[in-house]
Amino acid sequence: MAKRNIVIANWKMNPSTATEAGKWLLNIAKSIKRIKRTEVVICPPFLYLEKLKKVSRKIMLGAQNAYPGEVGPFTGEVSAEMLYNLGVKYVILGHSERRSPPAGGGETNEIVNKKIKSALLSGLVPVICIGEKERDEKHEYFNIVKTQVKECLKGVSKESISKVIIAYEPVWSISSTPSRRDATAADSLEMAVFIRKVLSDISSPQMASNTRILYGGSVTDRDAGEFLTNGGVDGLLVGRASIDPLKFLEIVKICEALKS
Ligand code: PEP
Repeated sequence: MAKRNIVIANWKMNPSTATEAGKWLLNIAKSIKRIKRTEVVICPPFLYLEKLKKVSRKIMLGAQNAYPGEVGPFTGEVSAEMLYNLGVKYVILGHSERRSPPAGGGETNEIVNKKIKSALLSGLVPVICIGEKERDEKHEYFNIVKTQVKECLKGVSKESISKVIIAYEPVWSISSTPSRRDATAADSLEMAVFIRKVLSDISSPQMASNTRILYGGSVTDRDAGEFLTNGGVDGLLVGRASIDPLKFLEIVKICEALKS
């Protein structure tokens, strides 16, 4: 079956009320009735998942994190199983804002690996964020990304590798990074090809070609088309622009119009 393009919204810690979250989702849901070839996923804060799941059946929900293990005595945590039971389909794991303190307390590839396995076991689709903090002249960033892919997917079965989604998010281009700079579609293409090769080496060419790779890092409605056309990816992970429902809808429409 052909892979569908996917546009994922990472709302991060927005909005500040459940009522507003409901309005945002309703706005998006009303406007994507004719969207057929693009999968639209919204990842709101945990608190709003239960309410939002009742708003639209067409929009899939994702969480922004999950505990790396089964349900148990872990104060403040939310397990993958609980999310799955709530009707959540996706979970963002290893986001750079969680890898760097203070938000996530410094998640390592090893922790992300445990979260991925737990998510897969529970039936969630992990959206695994990887990306280098900076680009050095010696191209060490390729090794950093390769290590992230390998360590995050260590012990994950070859078949499951085609089920995960890899979001390439160069940290230097994410909107929350101080002194960030724009990545280009060429940066995305180069890395998407590289990541697919690493995936192929640890699974098979067939599995790797089925794995969806996304680009994320300050994407807006102005450059979404360029990343989707020339960035070698199957979709986008959108942060800041996704908290403006109109901008997000524009990105979804661009994706829908491009996919042949
Ligand atoms: C993200 O945080 O996943 C992201 C892509 O953020 P932004 O689009 O704001 O850079």
